[in-house]
Amino acid sequence: MYLFDSSFLILIPALIISAIAQFKIKSTYHKYEKIYSKKGFTGYEVAKAILRENNLNDVKVLETKGKLSDHYDPRSNIIRLSRDVYSDSSIASCSIAAHEVGHAIQHASNYFPITIRDALVPVASFGSKSVWIFVMLGIFLSIPSLVQVGVFLFAGIVLFQIVTLPVEFNASRRALVNLEEMKGAKKMLRAAAFTYVAATLVAISQLIRLLALSNRRR
Ligand SMILES: [Zn+2]
Repeated sequence: MYLFDSSFLILIPALIISAIAQFKIKSTYHKYEKIYSKKGFTGYEVAKAILRENNLNDVKVLETKGKLSDHYDPRSNIIRLSRDVYSDSSIASCSIAAHEVGHAIQHASNYFPITIRDALVPVASFGSKSVWIFVMLGIFLSIPSLVQVGVFLFAGIVLFQIVTLPVEFNASRRALVNLEEMKGAKKMLRAAAFTYVAATLVAISQLIRLLALSNRRR
């Protein structure tokens, strides 16, 4: 059957790297959520202080539900921090808060890669919902052009993942400029960056697999 044929092997290296990345971010977060920043500022206070320094006083910082659900929402100009990050003064919390402020600064300064990334969001979200429907239908109904639509959509997802990399690295670089306890923060943000690299590798190997499959069907 299609999903279990030998082309699955193409995915294995990227899946192993991805598992290592997940392990690394969890263990690093675990370590640095227990080490507190010397000044005792919470994630919220760190975010507000960096925003003030960059004259971005109109950006709101609010608490949101979930674990590691932290993000910057460009439409409402709000940084949403998960409860632990918002109210804790651990190095993990401060690093994540500073990273999200990095995204707010990117938007305010019209950082070019984030403009491209935002433009690709609709393609990526439509693609991630529908790509396998096109591929499966194409195979079951023997309509190669449907499979090709799936491959095309998946290429859009891969492009989105690749453009996300400089955006994430740059947000962390901006965060580190503003943080004092660099060593722990660097380790935290590097582990987070590794998960983005791993996700991109998984997407690329899935695209290669899809291409291999669609060629074989012809
Ligand atoms: Zn980010």
